[in-house]
Amino acid sequence: MNLGIDGRRAAVAAASRGLGFATAAALAGEGVQVAICGRDRTRIEDAAARIGNGCVPLVADVADAEGATAFIEAANQVLGGVDILVANAGGPPAGDFAGIDDLSAYAEAFELNCLSTIAMCKAAVPAMQQRHWGRVVAITSIAVRQPIAGLILSNTARAGVTGFLKTLAREVAADGVTVNSLQPGLHDTERLQDLHGDASSLGASVPTGFIGAADDFGAVAAFVCSESAKYLTGAAIPVDGGVYAGLL
Ligand code: NAD
Repeated sequence: MNLGIDGRRAAVAAASRGLGFATAAALAGEGVQVAICGRDRTRIEDAAARIGNGCVPLVADVADAEGATAFIEAANQVLGGVDILVANAGGPPAGDFAGIDDLSAYAEAFELNCLSTIAMCKAAVPAMQQRHWGRVVAITSIAVRQPIAGLILSNTARAGVTGFLKTLAREVAADGVTVNSLQPGLHDTERLQDLHGDASSLGASVPTGFIGAADDFGAVAAFVCSESAKYLTGAAIPVDGGVYAGLL
C-alpha cells in the first residue's frame, strides 16, 4: 500500500531506539524525509545510519519544553519544514502513591510526557495549518485507558496530554492537520526490559499471545501519518494486542 507521503518531512522525537526509532524507520521507508533526535550524539547518529534514506540525526533532550522546542526548530531548519510530528519521549520512573514523596517527580513527569509534546506542537502545528496539511502522532500509553499499577507518574502525565491532543485536534481539523495518539501496550523495547526485566513470559498475558514488535508499532504509526488517514483525527488508538478489555 502506498501511503502517499513520499517527500513529506517528519520530525520524530526520542528515536535512537524503540518505538520512536521504528516509527522513524517506517516513515523513511515510505520516502519521508526524517529528522530524529536523542540525547547522545553517537547513539542518534548510529540510529540515523541504520534508518538510512537520508535520515538526519539531531541531538536534543525533550525532557522539557525548551529542549522539545529546540528539536522542532532544528528539524525545521534541516528539513525546510515539518509536515509530520511524532511526539515521543522516554517514560518516567516507576513508583506508586505511597512510594513517591517528592512532588517534583510529578512535575518532571509532566514536563517529559505532557509539556514537551505541547511545546513540539506549538513549534510545528501553526506552519502545518498554513500549508493546509499536517500530521501529529503522539506516543502515549495504554495506561491512558487503564492506569497501570506502579506507574503513577506515567498514568498521570499521559492522561493530561491526551486531553490536550483531543482539544488540539478539533481546533486544527479544518486546516488539514490531524492529531492522534497511539497507546502502546507491551512492546519489545528497552523500556519494557527496564520495567519488567525478562519480558519473555509477558506474552502469555496478551490476547494475541505475544508481545508487540517495535516495527509493528511503527507500521501503524506510519499509516496514521498517511494521506489515506486524513479523516482520522482526535483518536487515541490502542496498539496493544487486545490487552485493553474495555469497549471504548
Ligand atoms: P525506550 O526506553 O525503549 O526508548 C526511548 C527512546 O527515547 C530512546 O531512544 C531514548 O534514548 C530516548 N529518550 C528518552 N528520553 C529522552 C529525552 N529526554 N530526550 C530525547 N530522547 C529521549 O522506550 P519505548 O519502549 O520506545 O517507548 C516510547 C514511549 O512509549 C515511552 O514514553 C514509553 O514509556 C511509552 N510506552 C512504551 C511501552 C512499551 O511497551 N514499550 C508501553 C507503554 C508506553
